[in-house]
Amino acid sequence: MAKSIKEAAKIPDSRPVLLRQSLTALQAELQRHGFQGYRAKQIFHWLYKQAVPSVAAMTNLPAALRNWLDAFYRFGGVQIAERRDSADGSVKLILALADGARIESVLMREEDRRTLCISSQVGCPLGCLFCMTGQGGFVRNCTADEIVGQYLAARQLLGPGAPPITHIVFMGMGEPLLNCEAVFEAIRRLTDPQAAGLSPRRITVSTAGVAAGIRKLGEAKLNVKLAVSLNASTEDQRGRLMPYARRDRLESVLEACRQFPMPRQHRITFEYVLFDGVNDSPADARRVGQMLRGIRCKINLIPFNPVEGVLPFRRPPQERIEAFQQILIGMNYTASIRYSKGADVGAACGQLAAHAGAQLLYDTRAKG
Ligand code: SF4
Repeated sequence: MAKSIKEAAKIPDSRPVLLRQSLTALQAELQRHGFQGYRAKQIFHWLYKQAVPSVAAMTNLPAALRNWLDAFYRFGGVQIAERRDSADGSVKLILALADGARIESVLMREEDRRTLCISSQVGCPLGCLFCMTGQGGFVRNCTADEIVGQYLAARQLLGPGAPPITHIVFMGMGEPLLNCEAVFEAIRRLTDPQAAGLSPRRITVSTAGVAAGIRKLGEAKLNVKLAVSLNASTEDQRGRLMPYARRDRLESVLEACRQFPMPRQHRITFEYVLFDGVNDSPADARRVGQMLRGIRCKINLIPFNPVEGVLPFRRPPQERIEAFQQILIGMNYTASIRYSKGADVGAACGQLAAHAGAQLLYDTRAKG
């Protein structure tokens, strides 16, 4: 008997995922099963505006409908496995996926905005030398449900009646433009007025420089913002810091940026992590300024967040960071210095997956 229960547990759950349904599809399915179509809007409200974790919490639905939903659909999404609160108010969420994989999101809270940094892959295949995620290897792409699920998990964390999440940045684990299909589908749901209803202009897709992906993002007409991690002033320097860059040359990345469609008042953001003695010289700053000529852009300078004893890089002295910024400002660029939040809980840029090793990336015990 015990054996047969174990065997039954291994049968894959073939129910469709509730979070994957469009409003029209859900309406049609409800009506086909004898429920009123308007209930679909109520369900969407519970899913996306109230961010409830289960059908049981949809209290204005009749019990018969809740039972049917539970029997007919898998809920989908992600579960919060752990949270770590930073002294600066940001929160790192470690999220468990249905197959036991783990990903991370970071919620950053400022006075007038709440920004969620979300992951697009379990691990990352790009292997940037300064990034803990890249050092941990690649497991798989996230699905669109798992990406939307990170937003819903953060909403649950904030609680009902809390000010909403205002911005989303694809700057967590993974390279979003190597997982275009799921990322674009998630963006469509996050911006659908009947689902999460976020403004596309408040969503930023950040790439390490996948030229074909930048072109696809433009063609998809999602109207989201683009950020590109530049991090180097020469091809050779970039190839040493970001091994993937040896395949996708800087010139083709910059050409894709030049062609990227955006309204006149918008600009591409170039992120430049500053490493002491590696890419932070005045000559580097001048080369960056020359390289970006003709691209409507702004530059964010991010002093490296050291991961003690793990990565062989240091943060440059403050005067060197400011000198770099001044050279770019002198070349008529908007150049800001950005300090990452959540460094004390391993949530800052490049630190994700730094503190729990492989378990954080992929919990093999939970695979069953
Ligand atoms: S910096 Fe981004 S692209 Fe590079 S390894 Fe880390 S997660 Fe991947």
